[in-house]
Amino acid sequence: MIDAPDVEELNPPQRTLMGPGPSPVHPRVLKAMSTPLVGHLDPSFVEMMDETQELLRYVFQTDNEWTIPVSGTGSAAMEAAIGNLVEPGDTFLAPTNGYFGDRMAAMARRAGGDVVRVGAPWGEPLDPDDVADACEEFHPDVFGFVHAETSTGVKQPDVPALTEAAHDHGALVVADTVTSIGGVELKVDEWDIDAAYAGPQKCLSCPPGASPLTLNDRAMDKVLGREEPARSWYLDLSLLEGYWGDERAYHHTAPITNVYALREALRLVAEEGIEERWARHREMASALKAGVEAMGLGLNPEDDYWLPSLNAVLVPDGVDDGDVIDYVLEQYDLEIAAGLGDLSGDVFRVGCMGHGARPENVTLVVAALADAFDALGADVDAAAGLAATREALR
Ligand SMILES: *Cc1c(COP(=O)(O)O)cnc(C)c1O
Repeated sequence: MIDAPDVEELNPPQRTLMGPGPSPVHPRVLKAMSTPLVGHLDPSFVEMMDETQELLRYVFQTDNEWTIPVSGTGSAAMEAAIGNLVEPGDTFLAPTNGYFGDRMAAMARRAGGDVVRVGAPWGEPLDPDDVADACEEFHPDVFGFVHAETSTGVKQPDVPALTEAAHDHGALVVADTVTSIGGVELKVDEWDIDAAYAGPQKCLSCPPGASPLTLNDRAMDKVLGREEPARSWYLDLSLLEGYWGDERAYHHTAPITNVYALREALRLVAEEGIEERWARHREMASALKAGVEAMGLGLNPEDDYWLPSLNAVLVPDGVDDGDVIDYVLEQYDLEIAAGLGDLSGDVFRVGCMGHGARPENVTLVVAALADAFDALGADVDAAAGLAATREALR
């Protein structure tokens, strides 16, 4: 006999989540998650599926029929997009300017694609001319880019110029919109993006588990016309069509509770209004930015491609980034994150996402950073930072 382990009742700490995700979950979403389960083919659930898809079209700003929540986290939606669009032998053009561009490349390689790269340093966006040149040189079948790079805090400006460059050369365009959906302007149809995937636990303030994905007819034609089936059975969109399309036949059991959560999170977006929500993220992140700038710190990216939902705040002289992160977690139950890759040790990553993009959260972040810098001996003007944030929020 193996004895039953003696594990205490679940009692997680109450953290304020202001890192790169997950973000704070709205109480209404938590409430939706505690409602009774129904079957994944229950007529009531089928109706909720339709509503969820309708709401997803709104947040993506698309009419794409092919708009679904993929079971799993953002990476599942990412792999569904890339694994279905990239056929063995296809050329996939991926960006080099951040952590998630590398992940796109890795997934395209596993799908059997030949990966070629278009470059920009970490902390800078892609230049549409470079994308056009890379398309000229490599003739990619699919071009992927990251709209909101969570590793660097860079928002790709002028997306239509990128999609145009790729389309001029016959490539399909897949966009990572994980940290932009519901937080910064995103217009899938107007910007002519063929496929976009996202995640629920960033600016939608929903727990991870069911992740938005949309494909236009051009992209879906390619998926349905594949010579070989996609390598993943679970994420094969031609099979998932049976469940999320008209037929509503079993493929795998939908994560019912996560669909409830996503539906409620999306309802909150619809109630607020998508443009109002984009504006709120910008206003709240501006107050955060004003605070850290007044302390004498900058943000890593330039203003032209600043990403309000993820702020890459430069680490001041005189302190170690890890010590600051530990300090605010211990003293304030506040989660912020360290830089990744080329920016490791140089920046803090401070999210301003969804239900976290509120005055009380921004004030807490600036106050906690000010205290940490003071306590740990960083050379900053902590008081000026607090005053600037207060002023900006007034
Ligand atoms: C978080 C994130 C992902 C991956 O999502 P997971 O939910 O962690 O699987 C992909 N791309 C970007 C830009 C992200 O921020």
